Amino acid sequence: MRTLDSTNQWSGSGQKGGRGFDYLIVGAGFAGSVMAERLAAQYGQRVLVVDRRPHIGGNAYDEYNSDGILIHRYGPHIFHTNAQRVVDYLSRFTQWRPYRHRVLASVDGMLVPMPINLTTLNMLYSMNMSPEQAEAFLAARAEPVADIRTSEDVVVSKVGRELYEKFFRGYTRKQWGIDPSDLDRSVTSRVPIRTTAEDGYFNDEFQCMPLEGYTRMFEKMLSHSNIEVRLATDYKDVREQVRYRRLIYTGPIDEYFDYCLGRLPYRSLKFRHETIDEAHFQSLAVVNYPSEDVRHTRITEYKYLTGQTHAKTSITYEYPSDEGDPYYPIPRPANAELFRRYQELADAKPEVTFAGRLGSYRYYNMDQVVAQALSMVQRIAEKEGMKQAA
Ligand code: FAD
Ligand code: UDP
Repeated sequence: MRTLDSTNQWSGSGQKGGRGFDYLIVGAGFAGSVMAERLAAQYGQRVLVVDRRPHIGGNAYDEYNSDGILIHRYGPHIFHTNAQRVVDYLSRFTQWRPYRHRVLASVDGMLVPMPINLTTLNMLYSMNMSPEQAEAFLAARAEPVADIRTSEDVVVSKVGRELYEKFFRGYTRKQWGIDPSDLDRSVTSRVPIRTTAEDGYFNDEFQCMPLEGYTRMFEKMLSHSNIEVRLATDYKDVREQVRYRRLIYTGPIDEYFDYCLGRLPYRSLKFRHETIDEAHFQSLAVVNYPSEDVRHTRITEYKYLTGQTHAKTSITYEYPSDEGDPYYPIPRPANAELFRRYQELADAKPEVTFAGRLGSYRYYNMDQVVAQALSMVQRIAEKEGMKQAA
């Protein structure tokens, strides 16, 4: 397929002296791909998308490994949202496989439901509580916190210190490299605490996986004739070579500004992918390992996510790390303040739009990135007075 050519072939139209592009988009993840698709299909703009990786899809990229099992190269990506317009938009490029995500945590030698729920409490404490009793049980352990600011406060104020230490402290210290007491409350707030037997990981209405995988969905998104994709290509390699009117940048905002105000901290991960000669490795897609006695945070088994039938099974261990690709902006006040200063530099450059998880330095889920990208294109179109393509 033309757009997936990774041989660095160049179409010629955007080279110096050629007609050039309307938009240069840096990054072929959700942010870059959605904006490229909308600008091309809705507004007839000519778009060049570059990504320094040799593939499209950003962190959501999936691929068949040498055993023919569909895996996520950058760890498990589960689509969930309450935003109907995001579902409607993506449904143009994929059908869906219903999938309700559940997670177990390895705690005290047992595998118990995570988020903490009624079953978790009854298993851990060998009890047979009702939801009302479980509520009273947690209320008796919860520590009052006057001003809930940190990721520690959020959990301790709901379940007390013991459960916080069993489920959250170690996991968070491994995942982020800092103590939950130094991390914004928004991080552990992502995980609910329940006193019913409800065991879904997400509360969102819509939880599905793209039927043929994420990469297939991105291929369809980027296949528009007004879009040119250049892979294994850094922004720095093309910025002087290509003519374009406007830039959309979905890479790290501090990198764009040559780290002139200092580096924004990001957390990375190392992935250990393995294929096992057994039909299954564990009983569901994700098992979390909150204890600091092991270095990995979780193990994912993809066949549960994708529904694939295969005699073997592929799994991924995640090891958080300071080094490597930037995956997670780290939500804490000092970083928000540094980002604000970069944002001021960005505001002074209206010809450049910063978007996505790295461009906005926000711990966004996929659906939030899609929603942001759709809104941004709408805003750009209004500002530029763009007409809808016929
Ligand atoms: P990215 O996907 O990071 O894309 C940015 C792209 O820009 C990259 O491909 C990069 O190579 C490219 N780039 C950067 N700088 C340059 C440059 N100078 N030149 C050229 N190219 C450049 N979200 C969910 O909703 N559900 C999940 O279950 C989920 N699980 C996740 C699990 C993990 C391990 C991680 C790390 C994230 C997960 N997410 C999940 C979040 C999801 O990955 C992001 O919300 C989404 O992929 C962000 O899209 P993006 O386009 O903003 O960024
Ligand atoms: N978390 C935890 N223990 C767990 C699961 C999550 O302490 O078993 C904390 C951890 O800090 C994590 C955050 O809650 O980063 C948010 O979890 P989520 O599963 O939403 O993170 P994601 O993998 O989507 O980034």
